[in-house]
Amino acid sequence: RAKTPGAGSIQFFSPGDDEAAARRHALARDLPSALANDQLWLAFQPFLDLGSDRIRGFEALLRWQHPTLGPIPPSEFISIAEETGLIHAIGHWVVKTACLAAARWPRDLRVSVNLSVMQLKNKALLDGIVAALAEAGLEPRRLEVEITETVLISNFEETISLLQSLSSLSVTVALDDFGTGYSSLTYLRKLPLSRLKIDRSFVQDMLADADCAAIVRSLIELAHELRIEVTAEGVETLHQLDYLRRVGCDEAQGYLIGKPDRIDDIPGIAAKQFGQELGV
Ligand code: C2E
Ligand code: MG
Ligand code: MG
Ligand code: MG
Repeated sequence: RAKTPGAGSIQFFSPGDDEAAARRHALARDLPSALANDQLWLAFQPFLDLGSDRIRGFEALLRWQHPTLGPIPPSEFISIAEETGLIHAIGHWVVKTACLAAARWPRDLRVSVNLSVMQLKNKALLDGIVAALAEAGLEPRRLEVEITETVLISNFEETISLLQSLSSLSVTVALDDFGTGYSSLTYLRKLPLSRLKIDRSFVQDMLADADCAAIVRSLIELAHELRIEVTAEGVETLHQLDYLRRVGCDEAQGYLIGKPDRIDDIPGIAAKQFGQELGV
């Protein structure tokens, strides 16, 4: 902590910075034991198929319940996991746990997992995914991986070949948060994509902003020309849902359809819950 500034000195740190740094330090100290101590868990958020109005699957979203600091959002701890290299162990746990959960779900519901840039650079990722699928007895086509545009900037050729290996196993690939990063059309052309997820910011603005709506419609059209399905993220109102259905969007995800939540993975109970609450 800087000393009390004297006259003419410049204060670089505010008390807020100190608090943030201390919190980050504590999280970095505690994250290594979080996995072993069962503090990590997966929330699942549904995808609604707009053609059939049925739930098509769930995205796994990582949660950390810290013993004293309470729930820590992934936006806070994923970057710490990346910096410390823990992302590989945590990422493998996510894939394994998501596959085990999905194997107990009724019918052919899909499970999506988010992969971060560092995971895509790891040579062991592919084997880890194959092992997780085998251990869970999950058909590979029921697993989808979500990657973001920023993930792709470095090692593009290696990333393409990894994603091609996954897709040759029938694991599908989604481009997440589309529109927020660099959104190169090269990605749409060169990556073996099954799905494009339009970022929440477009969904939020599209009904108030005609240009934003034009972008959403054009993205859907472009993706369809390329045989890529479109999921809209962050759908919160019925008006948004109606509009997306009208312009031919394939799937919707958002608080309107369901918030990320715990799913009981006991097969019978899960089947009942899906059937009654989610209209499966
Ligand atoms: P994402 O993959 O784009 O996930 C969507 C985020 O938007 C989630 O935040 C979700 O809770 C939130 N969301 C969903 N519907 C709505 C809505 O209608 N309104 C609003 N306001 N928000 C909505 P969350 O769970 O905090 O995750 C944030 C990001 O952290 C994720 O963005 C993903 O990039 C990353 N993440 C989450 N789990 C994992 C993981 O297991 N591994 C890696 N590498 N990244 C993860
Ligand atoms: Mg995602
Ligand atoms: Mg997303
Ligand atoms: Mg997003």
